[in-house]
Amino acid sequence: MSTFVDTWKQHDFAAVGARIAAATEADVRRALGKQGRGLNLDDLAALLSPAAAPFLEEMAALSHRLTVERFGRTMQLYAPMYLTNVCANICSYCGFSAQNRIPRKALDDAEISAEADALEKFGFDHVLLVTGESSRYGLAYFQNALRLLRPRFSNLSMEVQPLDAEEYAALTADGLSAVLVYQETYDPIAYPKHHLKGPKADMEYRLATPDRLGTAGVKKIGLGALYGLSDWRAESWFVGLHLHYMEKHYWRTRYSIAFPRLRPHEGNEIPVTPFNERDLIQTACAFRLFSQEVELSLSTRESPHFRNNAFKLGFTSMSAGSKTNPGGYASEPESLEQFQISDERSPAEVAAFLKTNGYEAVWKDWDATYDGQQTARSNDVVHA
Ligand code: SF4
Repeated sequence: MSTFVDTWKQHDFAAVGARIAAATEADVRRALGKQGRGLNLDDLAALLSPAAAPFLEEMAALSHRLTVERFGRTMQLYAPMYLTNVCANICSYCGFSAQNRIPRKALDDAEISAEADALEKFGFDHVLLVTGESSRYGLAYFQNALRLLRPRFSNLSMEVQPLDAEEYAALTADGLSAVLVYQETYDPIAYPKHHLKGPKADMEYRLATPDRLGTAGVKKIGLGALYGLSDWRAESWFVGLHLHYMEKHYWRTRYSIAFPRLRPHEGNEIPVTPFNERDLIQTACAFRLFSQEVELSLSTRESPHFRNNAFKLGFTSMSAGSKTNPGGYASEPESLEQFQISDERSPAEVAAFLKTNGYEAVWKDWDATYDGQQTARSNDVVHA
């Protein structure tokens, strides 16, 4: 079966970077002139280029308008629930990396329920389940977590190790709504430098993971790169290429993109390629102009000041009050985090901020009855 790997191999990462760097003002004006309708990958390259920097205000205004037209003045709020920090991989940039001598933990049923209690109290109905990547905590562990949590939350997403299509299909049948699988980097030279050992070292298996998700009929797939590992402009263009490919091949599925930037973590410091806040805004706006359907996510990795100013410029979901350690909300508040968050405001504070700025915080945007399942909250109002 052909996968995105075949498409990816047709494009040289460095050559893409050079092409973006050479885009002209005329290219940017052509892309902007389309007013967010029918942009192609050349237009995306132009909007990601240095030539687009002077047009950032215009891009931001258009991105805001297109987002309000499609999504209204709403912001989905979600929280990650870290189930385990056990990981078989050595990744240069992560506190959970297998070579780090840290206490390892996997939540048991009681601890998962305690985390659920805490997140319910905050008001969350959308929870992202996160793990390290280890076959010790695979399909059976995830199915058990879904069984425990499905009656309590309407929307359960996962960010775990890449699985086979059959495993994704089984989890979807158990009530899984979405899977986020970030490629980290599309640069074939940078990838092996940062993924030194473990199954994640197989770059092509990871690249083909969204195909397996699409084949399995997962309702929403999250794509993205980890910014700081290679040239951000080329990285973003490859995310766009991936999105374009997925939308063509798996058109029933919804897509989301996030823009995680490297954050301080346990372990050795690594050289980080630049990707500043202005670059992040340019990237998010470029994606909104490229696709009016894609959901864009803004993480607690970013500062409150930045999030307060950026949230209107194309984003549709935000994490809030995040803990990035297993048991972080209830049982193990002091255990090791995967990375340090920057926005430490509570979910209620973030929701209140949105409200004072004319936005509705959406805690629930799906109902289990749509999947033929019943939850304790099935009678709640659905906002979007
Ligand atoms: S990034 Fe993911 S796979 Fe890599 S060490 Fe961290 S938890 Fe493991």
